[in-house]
Amino acid sequence: MLVVMQSHSTAEQIERVLAAIRELGLSPHPMPGPTRTAIGITGNTGMVDSRTLEVLPGVRELIRVTKPYKLASREMHEHDTVIRLPQGTFGAGAFTVIAGPCSVEDESLIFRTADWLMERGVRFLRAGAFKPRTSPYAFQGLGHEGLEILRRASERTGIGIVTELMDTENADAVEEAADIIQVGARNMQNFSLLRRLSRVRKPVLLKRGLSATLEEWLMSAEYLLSGGNYEVILCERGVRTFSDHSRNTLDLSVIPPAKVMSHLPILVDPSHGTGRRDYVPPMALATLAAGADGLLIEVHPDPDHALSDGAQTLDFARFELLLGQLEALAHPLGRTLDLRGPTSH
Ligand code: PEP
Ligand code: MN
Repeated sequence: MLVVMQSHSTAEQIERVLAAIRELGLSPHPMPGPTRTAIGITGNTGMVDSRTLEVLPGVRELIRVTKPYKLASREMHEHDTVIRLPQGTFGAGAFTVIAGPCSVEDESLIFRTADWLMERGVRFLRAGAFKPRTSPYAFQGLGHEGLEILRRASERTGIGIVTELMDTENADAVEEAADIIQVGARNMQNFSLLRRLSRVRKPVLLKRGLSATLEEWLMSAEYLLSGGNYEVILCERGVRTFSDHSRNTLDLSVIPPAKVMSHLPILVDPSHGTGRRDYVPPMALATLAAGADGLLIEVHPDPDHALSDGAQTLDFARFELLLGQLEALAHPLGRTLDLRGPTSH
């Protein structure tokens, strides 16, 4: 349910509505808008007599939200969510790039990559300290030591850190080290992890599950939003289909409906989406054309010797070329490539 306040409603009137919602045993989610405040209501709203809220001073109307994903829906939250961090923006027309090696392998790799990215104006480094690997014998990441390396890279360069949290056990440590916390595809429906992350004050990058529908994905986002974390970035990373010509089937066709159904920013990961480095640049360009808010892309100075996902990873030279192509394509599409620093425009 959504309470729409009158445009001239006062702070006291809004407070009174919030209190009334809590008295009904429900959770209020205030959403200040450009002209008026709306208050989303979550919980079991089925039995609520809407008149108890409608009659309160300052209330304009009550709207029933039909979608099962309430707070993630445009019905409840009409305007795009924009997530602003010191290093860059997600949403509001910006096209923002997050890049880095699949895993934190050692300090020199991370420092070298962070320095190079900052030089090129890319302000977010993504690398996993905890890695969800299909095989238990594959490199599992450096864990806490990896987080420490990421923390030092951020201190050294100011780069934004994006890294994955795999389990609730390491939530405090990852929250401290990361500027954005990644939830991997395999954990999209790990509800205890989502509940834990709904209480952190860091944005969450929520990857789409391997076989998740858009609605299931938005329901997972709803776990984060309903617990009070409103900074959720969706990330399409390919789904499992009958097609076996690439690692996954990158579903760029999910972007327009995701934009219709939800106000959340959406990124695309063409590295996991295709699994092959020569397929990554064309799909990255298509991502921009399809209306996504940015890219998550695997980059490594020596992909042939990467400890994980080397086959789908771009080297610096190919990535540099791609950034130039994205810059050239952004302008005619009316988009802005959010590259800051020496090369910013
Ligand atoms: C990753 O981002 O390195 C990763 C393991 O991704 P996904 O969860 O999409 O497979
Ligand atoms: Mn990877």
